[in-house]
Amino acid sequence: MIPISRLAASVKPSATLAAGAKAKALKSSGVKVYDFALGEPDFDTPLHIQKAAAEAASRGETHYTPVNGIPELKTAICQWYSQYHGFTCKPEQVIVSNGAKQSIHNALAAVCDPGDEVIIPTPYWVSYSDLVSMTGAIPKLVTTTAEASFKITPAQLKEALSPKTKIFMINSPCNPTGITYTREELAALAEVLLPTNVTILSDEIYEQLTYDGVNPTCFATLKPELQDRTITVSGASKSYAMTGWRMGWAVAPKHVVDAMGTIQGQETSCPSSISQHALLAALSGPQDCVAQMREEFRKRRDFVCEKLAEIAGITFPKPNGAFYVFFNVQAFFNRQFGNTFVTDSLSFCNACLEQAHVSLVAGSAFGQEGYARMSYASSIEELAGGIAALKKWLQG
Ligand code: PMP
Ligand code: GLU
Repeated sequence: MIPISRLAASVKPSATLAAGAKAKALKSSGVKVYDFALGEPDFDTPLHIQKAAAEAASRGETHYTPVNGIPELKTAICQWYSQYHGFTCKPEQVIVSNGAKQSIHNALAAVCDPGDEVIIPTPYWVSYSDLVSMTGAIPKLVTTTAEASFKITPAQLKEALSPKTKIFMINSPCNPTGITYTREELAALAEVLLPTNVTILSDEIYEQLTYDGVNPTCFATLKPELQDRTITVSGASKSYAMTGWRMGWAVAPKHVVDAMGTIQGQETSCPSSISQHALLAALSGPQDCVAQMREEFRKRRDFVCEKLAEIAGITFPKPNGAFYVFFNVQAFFNRQFGNTFVTDSLSFCNACLEQAHVSLVAGSAFGQEGYARMSYASSIEELAGGIAALKKWLQG
């Protein structure tokens, strides 16, 4: 038998992808499943983006590209930051990757040494802790509370800093909570980091999905002194409904981008050539498709919040970004549901899938016990059916 490495054995499978696969397996056995597990827009990629990719393929743009991405795309990314965030960067500071997940991996691998500490506010997106651990660095989880809308406070950040802190990771709007930090709140965190030499890794992938007039903040624009220490990550999966195209990017000081490029060149040679042309069309083409999808998500957010709030025992801070609600399910612990005695978020979510056929992701996957995440990237009809099934199951 071929032995499995310590690295491979220590990495956990992505809990969101696993929950999505479990729901799909149940569906394929003929059961009607309300699948709210995976954070993936249900919309098709807008047509003009699909067309740009098809045209690129027929033009013969089917070869390896430069490792960090094609020049016209890196320029378009710079223009996008200038237009939407007033952030000036140069193409040499941009690296395009096969998804924001690869951008985060590249960034962590380029900056972290074994034993370094990476501060991660919790709940956090599933993959952060494993991606950190894969570099040999140590995730330092800082638990936030629902009362504080799951936002890390400047005092908590200060307390978590140590001489070993290499990176502070921040994700706003946040997966799994759907909460967006205000510019002032991020500026207060930036203030704490000013006198340190800590690098900031800001995952802004949901930046175009904010509601209630909330403006997303690009962390790199907060303080000029921090620009040289900030790595900004974003991507097309969420805003342009492009999960399968695998397009993400990072903007960072040139020497960091060079290091990330060296790693990427050895791992995947370059990002997908055809997808890069699709992303170019997404960023430089009409943006009304994003506005339409945002408005649809906003309606769903309102619907889901109203309906969930009607279920006794479920509480949550109202999300104002991304497409998730992260709700407290502790009222249902230490109770019998069918043949399951629910004791924690995982047994709750497993029983919910098996008995109510509603697929959620356990809070423990995001480092926060006692909660469940619902993705509302589904039609209102599906959401209505699923929440009704959840309510019926919980209220017996
Ligand atoms: N960051 C966050 C917070 C996410 O939710 C996701 C979801 N996939 C990613 C990064 C990675 O996205 P992708 O690799 O599809 O660009
Ligand atoms: N980011 C999405 C989620 O949290 C997609 C799955 C994944 O990449 O983990 O569900």
